[in-house]
Amino acid sequence: MANAVKGVIAGAKGAPVSVETILVPDPGPGEALVRVQACGVCHTDLHYREGAITNDFPFLLGHEASGIVEKVGPNVTNVAPGDFVILAWRAPCGTCRSCLRGRPWYCFASRNAQQKMTRQDGTPLAAAIGIGAFAELALVAAGQAVKVNPAARPEAAGLVGCGIMAGLGAAINTGGVSRGDSVAVIGCGGVGNAAIAGAKLAGAHTIIGVDVDDRKLEWAKQFGATHTINSRHTDPVQAIRDLTGGNGVNVAIEAVGKPETYRQAFYARDHAGTVVLVGVPSPEMKIELPLLEVFGRGGVLRSSWYGDCLPTRDFPMFIDLYLQGRLDLERFVSETITLDKVEEAFHKMERGEVLRSVVVF
Ligand SMILES: [Zn+2]
Ligand SMILES: [Zn+2]
Repeated sequence: MANAVKGVIAGAKGAPVSVETILVPDPGPGEALVRVQACGVCHTDLHYREGAITNDFPFLLGHEASGIVEKVGPNVTNVAPGDFVILAWRAPCGTCRSCLRGRPWYCFASRNAQQKMTRQDGTPLAAAIGIGAFAELALVAAGQAVKVNPAARPEAAGLVGCGIMAGLGAAINTGGVSRGDSVAVIGCGGVGNAAIAGAKLAGAHTIIGVDVDDRKLEWAKQFGATHTINSRHTDPVQAIRDLTGGNGVNVAIEAVGKPETYRQAFYARDHAGTVVLVGVPSPEMKIELPLLEVFGRGGVLRSSWYGDCLPTRDFPMFIDLYLQGRLDLERFVSETITLDKVEEAFHKMERGEVLRSVVVF
């Protein structure tokens, strides 16, 4: 049986999204049907709408979600109806070359629901990052539904499913930030501020937030930045060196995804330090660096995919830290909105007015 519910569809490249009635099938083997309670508006949803990811229109958007398991299909053992879950876009397969090497956070064959959600006329919808949660019901592979403490507020918890996990993980998993480290985070939107919160959780001594927008730098301080730099007025590389005894930081996290900010991260780190790229570049971007500098400065240049997270390990942990008052997830929720306000939320996001708009159902 298919369930008719409202969902947010991106129908054509660059066109405003619309709320339509869609059909969500009941779960088949290995699948779970989740009643979505909250879903954050992420840049990636906007990238889908702009055709910047693939051209498989129409898309069902939404992927930073939490909700209650409604039904499960045959052979599902990790969740049961009534469980409170965060949806993950990584559900390790256990059998690909990376999983077999014991590195499931790089899984190359992450699982998704086999059945498609469709328009009422049967047109299949491509679900954003294999989720599609700007809808009252979402059909996912059961492994994508990660059980967490139900005491968490759904609108805060859902954010751990994407952007906030990307930032926390960029600092903790990919950057390996540890006690006493100095850290710079370039770009203080949702992901960057989560990296700042992650650096603080990991015990960093100096945390420098860099952005061109004073409003975002104010947020950075609230999440734990010990210093902020407005790079519109100040050379951030020099300012970061000045704050670190002339040396640069141990870990420089690039949360913008542009060549110029990557170059800032590259030169703002200390010798043998780590650069983490978590900002997502677009296809035409290129970077040129003196190869001798790449060699001579040593250290590590890494990319962080989804914060190199293992959802079953990391989501419950971060939700527990949040419930203990040690991770301020609530602060990322700038506003709650209804399903028909997603297009408006994209514009607020582009203007930098919000950390996260979150659809509540
Ligand atoms: Zn795998
Ligand atoms: Zn996202």
